[in-house]
Amino acid sequence: MTTPPRPLPVPDARSAPYWAATARHELAIARCARCDRFEIPPDSICSHCGTSDPAFRFEPVSGRGVVRSWTVVHRASLAGFTEEVPYLLVDVELAEQTGLRMIGRLLDGPDTALRDGVPVQVAFEDIVPGTAVPAFTLALGGSS
Ligand SMILES: [Zn+2]
Repeated sequence: MTTPPRPLPVPDARSAPYWAATARHELAIARCARCDRFEIPPDSICSHCGTSDPAFRFEPVSGRGVVRSWTVVHRASLAGFTEEVPYLLVDVELAEQTGLRMIGRLLDGPDTALRDGVPVQVAFEDIVPGTAVPAFTLALGGSS
């Protein structure tokens, strides 16, 4: 039995800069040109200032953050993950802005002991050449 491939991101006009950055192993987040706040995901209206013309630009961020919530996935709901279970999904608040959160896999293994506020650092999984998706690893020993 062969494992089906993992699903690939399908960039559109709004998300293309994000996926271009992840391919370079860089996390770039949309930032509103009107209020300067980061937004995940960027939509047609900025949720912070309400402008309908946010003119989002993608800016590289540190990739540092803290775990705010997590879950262990025991049953894969997506093709390509059946041999990956169990794995951890973490809800991370990025360092750049209070409440700026994104979800990704934690690559340290399903038995990793977590608590609210554990520091993590972005990492990238290369799915196929030229396509990488962000994930996280524990940021142990980091003093910053
Ligand atoms: Zn705004």
